[in-house]
Parts: sequence; structure tokens; C-alpha cells
Amino acid sequence: MTTRILVTGGAGFIGSHYVRTLLGPDGPGDVAVTVLDSLTYAGNPANLDAVRAHPGFRFVRGDICDPAAVDPLMAEHDQVVHFAAESHVDRSIDGGDTFIRTNVLGTHTLVAAAHRAGIQTFVQISTDEVYGSIDEGSWPETHPLRPSSPYSSAKASGDLIALSYHHTHGLDVRVTRCSNNYGHHHFPEKAIPLFITHLMDGRKVPLYGDGGNVRDWLHIDDHVQGIELVRTRGRAGEIYNIGGGTELTNRQLVELLLAEFGTDWAGAVEQVADRKGHDRRYSVDCTKIREELGYAPRVPFTTGLADTVRWYRENRAWWEPLKARAAL
Ligand code: NAD
Repeated sequence: MTTRILVTGGAGFIGSHYVRTLLGPDGPGDVAVTVLDSLTYAGNPANLDAVRAHPGFRFVRGDICDPAAVDPLMAEHDQVVHFAAESHVDRSIDGGDTFIRTNVLGTHTLVAAAHRAGIQTFVQISTDEVYGSIDEGSWPETHPLRPSSPYSSAKASGDLIALSYHHTHGLDVRVTRCSNNYGHHHFPEKAIPLFITHLMDGRKVPLYGDGGNVRDWLHIDDHVQGIELVRTRGRAGEIYNIGGGTELTNRQLVELLLAEFGTDWAGAVEQVADRKGHDRRYSVDCTKIREELGYAPRVPFTTGLADTVRWYRENRAWWEPLKARAAL
């Protein structure tokens, strides 16, 4: 029987890759997908061109905060995978209103509607940033939440609200918390695509502070693999960390990119004032998803990065207008 999946935020970076994978040749085959997306600056209909003609695909433009848009869709679906969010930390530092609205109120609108409609499974896509910064070791899922930016605080709030619907109403909510994603179709305000496209245009890469902040990098293929394991085999009310297993300082990341471009540090990097409240290090402990669901990241970082650079080189028409519009 076909499982009808409502994917929120499916026109964005990760959501669109999830939809393309579900409906592609390596997908499960027994799913139909509706994307609900309001098409903010980060939503791009072109990200869904590859699946637009698929008989199991439908696109609905709508706001997850609007019950009139959400309720009728819930009634027509079996499962929800919830990606829609305001996702850029720097924008949340400039102003948190839309972050609270979408990431908190929007998540509540969705879980409340999912509960009313009797949705089978609700997957809340979250972030490792909800744990805050960690100097040593890695966070297990039981680690206390200490988010530090308006973005991560709003995501943590959304997680708690979603989980409360499991605790209170028995809704099958599963939460994933992943590390920094990278790959093709990534909006060029985020570090890796910003750096790649700046280097392509001979512009200097802006490096925050001393460049010593550490992030774990996760290829979008591996993120989608983890989400699918959780959607199909995870347990209700559980949280699963998903990581890529490659921790790098921002300085190391820039060095790898400079090597891709055959460029020297001196002429290509500009150190800029640090981000306010910048978390020093993130590190997820992925023991639970590995032991319980058999997750293992498959894309080596150097291969994934080289593929990503190639994609941006070959798809200037995709990113150039986005950078121009966002004045990046
Ligand atoms: P993105 O910014 O590329 O895409 C977000 C999508 O949500 C866009 O298509 C946008 O139009 C849509 N959207 C925003 N507000 C909406 C609303 N009110 N109603 C309907 N649609 C709305 O984000 P992304 O990088 O693809 O991230 C997807 C999810 O993964 C987010 O929940 C984010 O918190 C989480 N996440 C991302 C990363 C990462 O590295 N990118 C890491 C960890 C977790």
C-alpha cells in the first residue's frame, strides 16, 4: 500500500533532496509525496524540477502556521516529515520574530493538526545546535538542551512541543538532530556554498574570528539515509542524533576548499569579526542510531566536498540569481 507523506519545507535544501530521493530510482517506491512550502527566500521551486512530473508528487504553496492550509492536508496523509523552518543563525541574530513564528508556532500548528487527523508518524527534523556548545566529548540524545541562538532556541522549543504531543496524546513523534549538512542545492548564504561561490568569483572568503570553531559535517545523502531509517524503523517518542563523522575547524574547512581551487590563504581569506554568541564546537554522539537502526555515514568528506564544488561550478544559473537577490 502507498504511504502518503506530507513533507513540509520540501522546496529548501534538505527537504528537496529528501523528496528527490524518495521519488527517485533509489527511493522506497511505495510512497506518494506532497510538499507544503510557503516559498520564503530559501524555498526554490527549481529544487523540485526533477520530480515535478512524477505521478506521486504534489506541491502545495502554504504556510505551516496557517491551520486552514494545514488541516485539510493532514486528513489526506499518513505521515509527516517536517523540515520547514527559518534556518540561518545569522538572520536569527539580526531578528528572531520569523524564527519563533515558523519554528515554534508552525511546529505546534502541525503537530496539533497531526494529532487531530490521526497521523501515523510525525518526524521532526531538528538540529544538533539545540544542545549548545561542547568543548570535549559528544552529546548523547539525553544531554540537556542549552541552545544559544534565537534559531537553535526556537528549534529546541519546536522539539519539546512535538515531543509533548507524544507524551500527552500518544502521537508517534520521532525527532532527528543532525549536524551541519553540506551538498548541492544549498542556499548560498551558508558557509560552504558561500565560500565556494566566492572563490569561483575571485572574492575573498570571510572567516569568522580565529577560525577555530568546530563543526561536524554531514553529506545530505547521509542525512536522508538517517531520516529514512528513523521514519521507517525508529521508535515513537525517541530522539536520534545523526552525524557525518568529520569534525573540522572552520580554518581546516577553508584550507580544504582552497586546495580544491589551488588558491593560497593570503589572497583568498579575510578574517572578519566573530558571530555574536558563536558556539565553539558541536559534536553528536551517534551510538543510538548506529546500534539501533544500523546507520553509518557513507560519503567521505573529501569526496562529498569535491562533488559539491563541481556542482556549483556546473550550476551557476542556479546560485547566481539567489546571491544577487540576497546581496551576498
Ligand atoms: P532551508 O532554509 O534551505 O529550507 C527551509 C524551507 O522551509 C524553505 O523551502 C522555506 O520556503 C520553507 N519554509 C520556511 N518557513 C515556512 C513556513 N512558515 N511555512 C512553510 N514553509 C516554510 O533549510 P534546510 O537547510 O533545508 O533545513 C531543513 C531543516 O533541517 C530545518 O528544520 C533545519 O532546522 C534543519 N537542519 C538543517 C541543517 C543544515 O545544515 N542545513 C542542520 C541541522 C538541521
